[in-house]
This record gives sequence, structure tokens and C-alpha cells, in this order.
Amino acid sequence: MIEELARRADDLGLSSAASLEGLGEDEAARKALAALSRAELVPWTVPQRDGGAEAGGLCAPDNVSVRALCALRQSLAYHSGMLDVMFVMQGLGSYPLALAGSAELRAQVLPEVVRGESVAAFALTEPGAGSNVTAVETRARKTASGWILDGRKTFISNCGLARFYTLLARTSGEPGDKEGLSMFFVPDDAWGLDVERFEVMAPHPIGDVILKGCELPAEFLLGEEGQGLEIALATLGRFRTSVAAAAVGFARRALDESIEHLGARKQFGKPLAANQGLRFDVAEMDVRLRAAELLVEEAAREVDAGGAAVAEVARAKLFATETASWVCDRAVQHFGGLGVKKGTMVERLFRDVRALRIYEGTSEVQKLILSGELFRRN
Ligand SMILES: Cc1cc2nc3c(=O)[nH]c(=O)nc-3n(C[C@H](O)[C@H](O)[C@H](O)COP(=O)(O)OP(=O)(O)OC[C@H]3O[C@@H](n4cnc5c(N)ncnc54)[C@H](O)[C@@H]3O)c2cc1C
Repeated sequence: MIEELARRADDLGLSSAASLEGLGEDEAARKALAALSRAELVPWTVPQRDGGAEAGGLCAPDNVSVRALCALRQSLAYHSGMLDVMFVMQGLGSYPLALAGSAELRAQVLPEVVRGESVAAFALTEPGAGSNVTAVETRARKTASGWILDGRKTFISNCGLARFYTLLARTSGEPGDKEGLSMFFVPDDAWGLDVERFEVMAPHPIGDVILKGCELPAEFLLGEEGQGLEIALATLGRFRTSVAAAAVGFARRALDESIEHLGARKQFGKPLAANQGLRFDVAEMDVRLRAAELLVEEAAREVDAGGAAVAEVARAKLFATETASWVCDRAVQHFGGLGVKKGTMVERLFRDVRALRIYEGTSEVQKLILSGELFRRN
């Protein structure tokens, strides 16, 4: 089944990636999601219980399979960063709802996510709360009829496109307290919600979500009050390995581009590939990528089996994203001037892969998690 999913994502990439190039960001994003929906890949981002794909024993029916997410993201990223991000955000943004939403809210929202009609977003980061999520300052105050939220979220993927945000806010305590954080379902048309878009180095719909007296009904609290950090960490724990898989996808493409270019381009009367130093580079790129793939496979298998796999996930994310950045950098070097010419494939891959070392926990945060786990075990 995993190979079949990778093949389907590959087919989609081959047939639609080129048509997304050169479009405005929002148009490309909408087109990418529509293509993913037509190819029936979006259901893999939502549990089978809530209308998602039949995971066929890969994981529990109330969950999403990390092996499936990884196979799909690796193939999608090989072809297009936009296909990759629009695919995974449907899962990342809706997972807190699948995990902790009432049956009524899940039934209302998740089928629309599966059909690609409702765009999802996940909002943790704030100007003062990046690597340290517990520093969240956005406040949610209880009222007679529900909640009022005030604060600002930043670097939110799908900002402005999303139909809803799953959003972490503080219901009690002070910034820095682990307790007192709660998760909310926030529709984009909630009164008091505004967005400000900005651009990052690769095409990626992103921006700030501003909440000023934003009113929500009581039932939009997901899970219990104070359960927000647990829900946020469970969401990241499920999706983080797939960031590593996407990194491998971008870098595999860069390696393939390098091999083709080194064979075709002649300097000093012979193909670049005739230089042993460059051939060694290719071997090194391949072996590091294979090691990354094996770490991804190990982490995905462990998470699907129901384990927390804290060390495995951190290892996979750290090694795959750092390796992929290095591989894409080597590919740029192999292309010489063409490697930095805007619009060439390796130039795009170099930009696409960079943010993966930052979002869903930076490389340094992965090192903190991994070393913490190693010290705990010993
Ligand atoms: C393209 C993109 C998409 C994103 N999408 C989303 C999204 O959809 N939703 C969302 O909530 N957020 C999103 N983010 C935000 C992302 O999760 C944060 O940028 C990330 O967690 C890092 O936070 P920060 O940018 O505030 O960096 P900081 O936390 O300020 O870190 C700056 C640097 O210091 C290092 N550092 C921090 N603390 C330590 C420490 N204790 N020890 C050693 N080094 C440390 C970091 O590793 C980093 O290198 C996105 C970011 C990007 C770039």
C-alpha cells in the first residue's frame, strides 16, 4: 500500500507540478489543493473514523498513518513544494480537532477537510513564543456564552486561505507556565479575527493571525481547559516525521538533477561527471539520503505502532532536514551559475528545503529533545 501511495503522489506531481509554476501564491495553493483532492490523496490526512482514508491496518482507525503521510510527502516534495505544503496542512491543521473535538464538530468540519473544501491551519507560534511554546500570551477569557480571544499568532501557514485555525491560547496562568494552555477551533469568519500576510523565501501562504476581542462559542474549546499543550505536542509528534520525509523528497530531486547535469555539461573537453571529486559528491549525497530515509522509516513505523518514539522522531527530523539542506547546496554547486539563477530547479529546491530546519521544531530543538531523552533513559 505504501508503494502504491508513493506512485499515486508521483503521478500527481508529474501531471500537475508544472501547471503551478508562475502562478500567484494563493492561486497556486488553491490549484494544488484541488489537484490533491481530485487525486484522492487528502483523505490520508484525516482519521478513517472521521471520513479519512481506510488506513488498512497501518494505524488505529482514529488516527492518521505516519508511514502514509511520509510516503506521500516524499513523492509530492520531489515534484512541488506547494503540493507538499497544501497536502500536509490539511492534516496538521485539522489533527487537534480529530484528537479532541466533539463528535458533532468533527462530523461538521472534517468531511469538508477531506474533500479539500475547507482549508486548515495550525496556530501555535507568536512573536514572543517560537521554540518555547509555553510562552504563549494569547488570552482566552471565559464569558457567559463562550470565549473571547486576544493576541497575535505569527508564521501561520495557510493564513488568509484557511477556513479555520486550530489555535493555542492561554486560559489561565502566565506566559512560561506549562499549565493553563488550551486549544481552540477558530473559524476564519469569527468576529474580531484579522490576518496580515507576508512572504518567506519559498512559495508558501503564510502570515499573522490577529485576534481582537474574537468571540467563540463554548463548544469551540477542543478537549478540556488546560489540555492545549498536550494536544499541540501530540499533533507535532504525529506530523514531525513527515517533515523529514518531505526533506528527503526535495533532496532526492536535487540529487537526480545533479546526476543529469553532471553527465550532460562539458567543461575542459569532458563531462563534469568525469571528475572523480564530483562523482564522490554524488555517492556521498546518496548514502546520506539513504540513511535519512531509514531514520524516517524507523520513526514512522514506531509512531504508527502507537509509541511516542521521541528519540526516533527527533533523530529523523534533525538528520533528514540538515542532510537535505546540504544535498541541495551541493546540487546548486554542481550547476555553477545556473544553480543560483532564479527559476532553475535546484535554485528552487535550495529555497524550498531551508524552512524545514526551522518549522515544527528547529534543529536545535530536536537536539534538545534527543539529548533530553538519552539522559532520561540513562
Ligand atoms: C515556513 C514556515 C512555516 C511555519 N508554519 C507555522 C505554522 O503553520 N504554525 C505555527 O504555529 N508556526 C509555524 N512556523 C513557525 C515555526 O514553528 C517557528 O519559526 C519555529 O518554532 C522557531 O521559532 P522562532 O522562529 O521564534 O525562532 P526562535 O525560537 O526565536 O529561535 C531562533 C534560533 O535560536 C535557537 N534556539 C532557541 N532556543 C534555543 C535553545 N534553548 N537552545 C539552543 N538554541 C535555541 C533556534 O533553534 C533558532 O535557531 C512556521 C515557520 C516557517 C519558517
